[in-house]
Amino acid sequence: MVDRLITDARIVEPTGVTTGDIAIDDGTIADVGPDVAKRYDADDRIDADDMVALPGVVDIHNHMHDEALFPDGIDFGSQTASAVAGGVTTVIELPTQTPVTSPEAFREKREACEDLSHVDFGLVAGNVEDADIDVEDIMAAGTRDFKTFTAEPYLADDATIVEVMAEVGAAGGKVRVHCETQGILDHAREQIEGDDPEVYPDSRPLEAELDAINRVGWFAEYADCPLHVVHVSSGSGAREGGRFKSRANVPVTLETCPHYLAFSDDDVADLGPFLKVNPSLKSVDEVERLWDAVQDGTIDLIASEHFPTYREERERGWEDIWEPYAGLPSIETMLEFLVSEGVHEDRLTWPRLAELVSARPAREAGVYPKKGSLRVGTDADIVLLRREAYEVSADDLEFVGGWTPYEGRQWTGRVDTVIADGEVAARDHRVLSSPGDGDFLAREPLR
Ligand SMILES: [Zn+2]
Repeated sequence: MVDRLITDARIVEPTGVTTGDIAIDDGTIADVGPDVAKRYDADDRIDADDMVALPGVVDIHNHMHDEALFPDGIDFGSQTASAVAGGVTTVIELPTQTPVTSPEAFREKREACEDLSHVDFGLVAGNVEDADIDVEDIMAAGTRDFKTFTAEPYLADDATIVEVMAEVGAAGGKVRVHCETQGILDHAREQIEGDDPEVYPDSRPLEAELDAINRVGWFAEYADCPLHVVHVSSGSGAREGGRFKSRANVPVTLETCPHYLAFSDDDVADLGPFLKVNPSLKSVDEVERLWDAVQDGTIDLIASEHFPTYREERERGWEDIWEPYAGLPSIETMLEFLVSEGVHEDRLTWPRLAELVSARPAREAGVYPKKGSLRVGTDADIVLLRREAYEVSADDLEFVGGWTPYEGRQWTGRVDTVIADGEVAARDHRVLSSPGDGDFLAREPLR
């Protein structure tokens, strides 16, 4: 007897696709493979004939909780609900405005999020603007990742980034860097007149990203610190980072986000402030090159870089694009986008998708194979997808902000059922889990 059986699914892992059943008991995967269902009785059976079963998505870059910044209704509770509705069963959250640069601040945020979270979660420390932090004590509180920036509004100077890398590398951690060179951004901004949304991409040139990726690569090599480049926005940026991956003596990982694959700067004319994001969107050619880099392994993983705002907040950007925050709500739509416009359009295989959004990010976060796999004995985090044609509408999403940049797109991959820690947590974007269901994931040093 087991708690739950999923039967006749196409089971996807990075190693391939098989047809079979998954037995779930006591929150973990008890058995998986062909004919498993014949060997067990279950309290609950889910017929997954015609459906695909993936390991639950592990999203390692998102912004979801900041009491000083986000308005009422936007917190770790509502945002992890949006996550689980979209098939994301593990989140690693990053600081936004409020710094998490002391063990006390880390524990305080952990406690607040534990009360609210629908899914298992970890936290990243940052944003580090000053190297005078207690790296080892912060890591002992349960993280191994530190976020820093080469650009405003959390700009750290070069010497600070190098110093932080030296300390974090020595302690067995990893530094994540937002890569755009501020000097180029400053110059570009000065050339721009007006406040129309269409000028925004020109304020953040491609070369700012290329220069910063190259420089922080050398910083990491010099400081002997593993480096994670967040939100690479261009194919050329991926290539720059890829060259570094092959020559560096430290681990370098490259992340991109769904919006850099879904939109180009051409789309800004229509969508205006609803595509305001940093780094900015790049040309159609760069988008195509970025898909190539996702396919060929130059890009290691995809993360949502979810940033929640209400629709009214964004609307103000039609008048003045410099006013609203940059960032897009994307955690709930990431998987359906990658299935619909990636797998179903022959730009990704199912196994590559499982690698990009589950297995690889779980390894990066230090939670593999507990998370990001469908192996026996690991946490039963599973997303079932069905093939169905539909038009994307914010009305159908759990996200409380009332908008999505994907509004009106015609998609074919739909999240049917989401299982987190063995329980049915969402069906058809309706959330069945509760705040507090998720546990904190303390993550160990790399070395
Ligand atoms: Zn971010």
